[in-house]
This record gives sequence, structure tokens and C-alpha cells, in this order.
Amino acid sequence: MEAWLRVADELGLGDRLARLLRGEARVRDVYEAFRAPLWLVGGLARAVTDALTGRRVGYIVNMILNHTNVCVVGCRFCSFYRRPGSREAYTVEARRAAEMVREHWLRYRIRQVLFQGGVNPELGLEYFEEAFRLIKRFTRGEVAVHGLSVVELEWLSRRERMSLGEVLERLRAAGLDSVPGAGAEILSDRVRRIVSPAKSSGEVWLSVMARVMEAGLPVSATMMYGHVETLWERAVHLLRLLELQRRYGRVMAFIAWNYEPRGNELSSEVPVAAGGGELLRAVAVARLVFRGEIRWIQAGWLTAGPALGVASLEYGANDWGGTLYGERVLPAAGVPLPLLVRRSIEDLIGRAGFEPFERDNWYRPVEGVGGAGVAEEGAGAGAAAVA
Ligand code: SF4
Repeated sequence: MEAWLRVADELGLGDRLARLLRGEARVRDVYEAFRAPLWLVGGLARAVTDALTGRRVGYIVNMILNHTNVCVVGCRFCSFYRRPGSREAYTVEARRAAEMVREHWLRYRIRQVLFQGGVNPELGLEYFEEAFRLIKRFTRGEVAVHGLSVVELEWLSRRERMSLGEVLERLRAAGLDSVPGAGAEILSDRVRRIVSPAKSSGEVWLSVMARVMEAGLPVSATMMYGHVETLWERAVHLLRLLELQRRYGRVMAFIAWNYEPRGNELSSEVPVAAGGGELLRAVAVARLVFRGEIRWIQAGWLTAGPALGVASLEYGANDWGGTLYGERVLPAAGVPLPLLVRRSIEDLIGRAGFEPFERDNWYRPVEGVGGAGVAEEGAGAGAAAVA
């Protein structure tokens, strides 16, 4: 770490980067870190991660259940949603959703379902309660529900005329274990007015996440970059997430992904996706900003691909994310997803010189991987069949 700071000193960046490492960063410091040579922030970020978790890299065997593509929000960057009444609209019934989870659990021993979809006005709180209860019952409580997003929670609170606290209490009682940080995009109202004008402000996103954490549920935090935001706005975004974590302390992980300019309205204004260097930079700067305060930073392979995912480990990431069986959002944007099973993820991570470990929803290492009846090879066909 010291060696990297000496190099930073020679480039006139020593004070700024040292402030980040002391947890005293200002927006200008983070902005300059985004503009610094990638090898420098990457090397420093890797040194921070080495001190935190060594060469260990977690991953989870999970599925994504996109229960409906019906959405009335209509974000301009989204290729997945369909308006109510569209011929391509679908909604998975609660019982069927739970059966799909059971099928993945039996076949792959998944440990988590990421349960997310559009804001479908037909679906009330009872739908989610039934789905979560059945998931727990069908999997003997072995599959964690990492589900809903800020916009879905806000919608449920309005639809049911209940406080957010009541909604969260009911969902938690039904089996919700944690909440993903989707919908943060960039926490700037200027940006949100362009990319997702019907979504609520960044302040509201932060306050909903605060209520979720107050309700005792851990969360993840995200950043979608590479559209109309500036580097300054990315810097503000990271610092706002850090502030949220300092106040509520239940942000388990950070995930950055790039905007995919295919099949959505925004692509006419932003026709080219951000390059791989931007992902590495986002991972590295996030690590310098969050240090150990947000302990896990995901490799972001979902939109950028496994090769860049592996590269991002050298830039400070220490979690691979999941196997993501059943994902439908990215294929809707024309992004083909490789189907990775336990063994191929462990190979990828191991061949890059890191030590893979399987984890659970709460980022704890798990024992007894695999076992009788757990399919590994041929996952593609199975996953497609049940997705
Ligand atoms: S990103 Fe989510 S809220 Fe926005 S249109 Fe897509 S499904 Fe709806």
C-alpha cells in the first residue's frame, strides 16, 4: 500500500488518495481518483482488498426469478419491461414461482433466489407473501429470498395504503431475507430525469433503503454507469452510498454494471456501451471509497462478461456474484449470458490466481458444496427449461 502511495505522490495524487484510504474523501478526491491512471487506482485497490480478505473470492449458487415483465414505470434504459396488455407481457403465478425455485434447488442446490420484476399493478402484497412462504416451504428454508427493489417496495406501500414499515414487516414474516439495491442507477436527480423520469428521486431511494435496513434487512448497493452521468456524479453517488452505510450499516456488497444500449429508448442518445476499462475503474474507485466499510465488491461480470469479471478481481473486487440461473433481463437487451456452474466459476477464479469459496446470501462461507443429486454439467438445458 505504501509503495502505491509513494507512486501516487510522484503523480501529485498522494494526498487525495490517502484521504480516500483514511475514509475522509471529498467529492473532488473521488472525482480525481476516477481520472487517475487505471493501473494506479487498480493497484492500490487490490492492495486494500488484499489487506481485507486476501485472495479469497466468494460466489453464490443462485437463480434470478423475474416474476413479471409488466411494468408501469417505463425507465428509458430498460429493455426488459412490457406495458400492461402487451402481447409479450408475462407474469408467473406465485405457486409456479415457488415451484421454479424448488426445481433449481433440487437440481443445483441453489442458496438464493433473486426475486425481481417490473412494477405490475395487478400484483399486491399477498402475491409476494404467498410466493415467499411457498419458496421457504418447498425448499425447507434453505433458499434465501433476496428480493424486490426500492421502486417495487414503494409501489406496494402505495397500493396497499400501508407504511413502508408495515409492508416490510409483512414481507419479512413471509420469508424476505434481504433486498437488492437495484434502481439506484446514479443518485442524481439530473440523471434520473433523463434515464428514468418516472422513478422517484435519489433522496427517496436512499430513504427507502434506510427504512429497509431499519427493519433489520441487509441490502446491497449498486451503480449503473455509462449513460448520461458525469464522473462527478459517479463520485457523488459513491459517497452517498458510503454515507448510507455509515448511518445504517447493513450494506453487504456493492455491484457496478454498465448500461446496455440495446433495445431501449435511451440507446438512440447513448448508442455505445462503456468499455471494459470503465468497469475496472468503477470497481477500483469503489474499493478505495468503501475500503472495508462495504466489505464485498462484486466482479460485475453480468453485463461485462466473465473475462472482464476475472480482470476486475485484480482491481479490488472480492466477490463473483452468482450463477444467476434463469436471468431474463439481459437476454432481453441482447446480451447472451454464459451459464456458469460451480465448477466453471471455481476454475475461472482459481486460474486467475484467486481462491474461490462458495458463500450464502449473507456472504458467509458454506460447507458441504454439491452432493448427491446436484447437477453440474448440462446446467444450460435445465436452466433454460425452468426459466
Ligand atoms: S428498470 Fe425496473 S422499474 Fe424500470 S422499467 Fe425496467 S422493470 Fe420497470
